[in-house]
Amino acid sequence: MTEIQKPYLSRFPDAEGYFGKFGGSFIPPEIKTQMDAIAEAYEKFSRTHAFQSELQRIRVHYQGRPTPVYHAQNLSDYCGGGQIFLKREDLNHTGAHKLNHTMAEVLLAKMMGKKKVIAETGAGQHGVALATAAAYFGLACEIHMGEVDIAKEKPNVIRMKLLGATVVPVGFGAKTLKEAVDSAFGAYLQDPESQLFAIGSVVGPHPFPKMVRDFQSIVGKEAKAQFAEMMGGLPDNVVACVGGGSNAMGLFSAFIEDPVAIYAVEPLGRGTQAGEHAASITYGEEGVLHGFNSIMLKDAQGEPGAVYSIASGLDYPSVGPEHAYLSSIKRTQAVTIGDDEALDAFYTLSRKEGIIPALESAHAVAYAMKLAKEKPYETILVNLSGRGDKDLDFVTETYGFGN
Ligand SMILES: *Cc1c(COP(=O)(O)O)cnc(C)c1O
Repeated sequence: MTEIQKPYLSRFPDAEGYFGKFGGSFIPPEIKTQMDAIAEAYEKFSRTHAFQSELQRIRVHYQGRPTPVYHAQNLSDYCGGGQIFLKREDLNHTGAHKLNHTMAEVLLAKMMGKKKVIAETGAGQHGVALATAAAYFGLACEIHMGEVDIAKEKPNVIRMKLLGATVVPVGFGAKTLKEAVDSAFGAYLQDPESQLFAIGSVVGPHPFPKMVRDFQSIVGKEAKAQFAEMMGGLPDNVVACVGGGSNAMGLFSAFIEDPVAIYAVEPLGRGTQAGEHAASITYGEEGVLHGFNSIMLKDAQGEPGAVYSIASGLDYPSVGPEHAYLSSIKRTQAVTIGDDEALDAFYTLSRKEGIIPALESAHAVAYAMKLAKEKPYETILVNLSGRGDKDLDFVTETYGFGN
């Protein structure tokens, strides 16, 4: 295992938001001013008792934390030996880990005196998590979403509207996530003083990769203590799926200094050709996208490459800078899982354990199932980032009910 500079979490990122050469902020000066103000407010407020006690209260009484760690005995037996443990983020209010950071982001917005939070959403998961937090804190919420995605993700659009958010349809270009980002950013820049642009993963310019990691670190802290109580030590392996990388950083952050193997699972989609997958760390190269330097998938012109996987929450052509860094120093290992393996894990976890995972999380479960076969005497802690309700119609209409 690579030697890590300790204490890791307080050393990384540096004051400019760098994890080694990755991260930073590559943005126009007027946005830099706003991001600096957010970074300053975060450092100031997050150290106060008011912020921490409010967040603690929300975690327990509103989100339902701590979420359990569950020993998946049936699945472990089925796989052939290695013992699989699931950190049940699917049991978090709204059914996924995203609320861990949106609640804290909107709390920060409120303390900064902002009146409104604004963001883009692809499949609608971030939009729903942000709309939930905005409803809780009584702030306005504006979500930009491509018209193609609006047609595809109707239940999430309905949820956002019920939660009181304004959904702004984006009708130019390909009418999907990239255009939604441009549209949301344009709206934000019209009045950055009274709004907070709430980024949905450990991506974007500084301070978001650090802030979102810190907000998600509750997952790793809880899981580490819960695992120690159950098994009397550390897990041998930790596993999480990586889209932007927030659920993975949440879990990994607690284990970086420990002798634990860490696996970042990327979606291989339909294959290894460009456009067939979204495995940014595995197949990408260094580049700047959305205001930060990281590893990204590029097309022949050097523009962000087309991405695909069965799990739309993992379809991002780059990855959080901390993942790029940890992988570059070989502290984490990026691995891939294809659509077929993720689907198999989706059905298997449902049948063997009575837990229907999100398709994103099914990628992590699929890799844990492989590890359990390869390492029959080891323990494997997996972040089950979300539940599969949102995927039921799509999976059963397209692929049926499994064998
Ligand atoms: C959004 C989402 C992901 C991917 O986002 P990360 O920032 O990589 O964690 C994974 N799982 C679920 C359930 C999601 O909703």
